Amino acid sequence: MAVKQSKHKSGQLVVPGDKLGVIEEFTTGNGTYEQGGIIYSSTTGRVLLDLLNKQATVYPKVHVSNVPRVGSIVVGQVSEVQSKQATIRIFRLDTRLLNGFFSGLLHISDVSQRFVESMYEVCKAGDIIRAKVISDKNRVFHLTTNDKDLGVIYAFCSRCGQALTPRKFIMRCSECGNSEKRKTAYDYGKGEI
Ligand SMILES: [Zn+2]
Repeated sequence: MAVKQSKHKSGQLVVPGDKLGVIEEFTTGNGTYEQGGIIYSSTTGRVLLDLLNKQATVYPKVHVSNVPRVGSIVVGQVSEVQSKQATIRIFRLDTRLLNGFFSGLLHISDVSQRFVESMYEVCKAGDIIRAKVISDKNRVFHLTTNDKDLGVIYAFCSRCGQALTPRKFIMRCSECGNSEKRKTAYDYGKGEI
């Protein structure tokens, strides 16, 4: 029986989950994993099938990562607020605008050092918020705003939709006079969206 040739050649671009070969041919190098005797790529990059050392390796493509990681600073729009958490549609990762969206979760315990009673005092649906990724398990991005440069950077009046202006401890709507609470970043209203 002929040995089944792997369909990939060295130098080819592969993505996570691409079959690179079988364990009879290669051992698993960096950027690969084995499942059921088959070697797969665990990253996006260029594959090297080293026939001499019989090892499959994938060298990650530089700057390919458009996925938030732990420590990434992200910007997103608040899509839903509940009393203990908010859902954020992440559209900016560090300095780059993303093509798609990632869903982030901000839990009330990660908002601030001080005790926060309700998420409704932190942000409202439609606000633009800057946050840091603290966990990315199973591609669920848990966020924190516990820093002076993190928090809401643009907020809109929940009565009339006008952008809110920060006053000392409150946000004020110059249009309808409504006042609301937010956890703002220090550069509220000046930051890049
Ligand atoms: Zn208003």
